[in-house]
Amino acid sequence: MLRKHVYTLASDSLLGRKTGTIGQHKAVAYCTYAIRTCHLFAPFPIDSTRLSHRQTFPITIKPIATYGPPSGLHSDRAYVPTEKQAELVNRPMSRRDSSRALFGINVGGVIPGTDLKREIIVLSAHYDHLGASGGRIFHGADDNASGTAAVLGVAAVFDSLAQLGIRSRRTVLFMLFSGEEDGLLGSAYFINHSPVDPRRILYNLNADMIGRVDAAHRNAPDYCYVITDSNGNGLKQIVETVNAQTVGLQLNQGGYDAVDDPDNHFQRSDQYNFALAGIPALLFSNGEHSDYHRPTDTAKKIRYDVLQKRATLLFQVAWALANP
Ligand SMILES: [Zn+2]
Repeated sequence: MLRKHVYTLASDSLLGRKTGTIGQHKAVAYCTYAIRTCHLFAPFPIDSTRLSHRQTFPITIKPIATYGPPSGLHSDRAYVPTEKQAELVNRPMSRRDSSRALFGINVGGVIPGTDLKREIIVLSAHYDHLGASGGRIFHGADDNASGTAAVLGVAAVFDSLAQLGIRSRRTVLFMLFSGEEDGLLGSAYFINHSPVDPRRILYNLNADMIGRVDAAHRNAPDYCYVITDSNGNGLKQIVETVNAQTVGLQLNQGGYDAVDDPDNHFQRSDQYNFALAGIPALLFSNGEHSDYHRPTDTAKKIRYDVLQKRATLLFQVAWALANP
């Protein structure tokens, strides 16, 4: 199932899933289908009687970034935005603005809890990527078809348990964000237009790039970076305990933790917007590799055995948090 999700999302026909493009719409169609297959409820109000799995938000795209050669050890420099690429449009838009406006689309679904259903855990991943440029498609298999697949996989397990009458005490909201590559726009919009009071969101678990093995772990691939800030220390302890009792991955920070990380990894994916809202949030990631933000980040390079273990850890942590 994880393999199918990654191969579909990272296929040529989805054109790199760039926010505001036809590739985004194809990805939304697939993600919505997958979420409905898991019988998740729609969380976003359309009007007073109808709900949607989709949350649409307006953005303005600024001039395209350049794709230059990598410089130095940090392969992420292969993709160098010349300026902040996009921004949320502040409503109301003028007529002139609306002619330039594009739309991001978050996709989400809910499994309601039982006796603690007013308390919410958000499991998230961004599904968008860099699109296509100069005839090359940026497939984004690791970034972040892998995390998207894992969130959908965890939703499927929660659904299977619910079919057996086993439901979590707290509510779990599964979110697939758009606009991440343009500056964490989808999660920013979600926090500011949450379908529930953000104070009821207790934790955010975010998966961004969990399908590869970095150079430091070539001979020990059963690992995962778990990255948080000082507000997430309690959450991190829960992750460590659950991991020790279940999957037993090697968990480490790899110098990626927020306080002393010169590349600010904690601030570079959607968990950061939850942290800014005061919600304990944690990033699961495999770290960087030479295909990062390059057209060569393809589905066949994913380590599906390792992705499966990390997705299992994500489920086990989500289940523990949802059943205090
Ligand atoms: Zn990413």
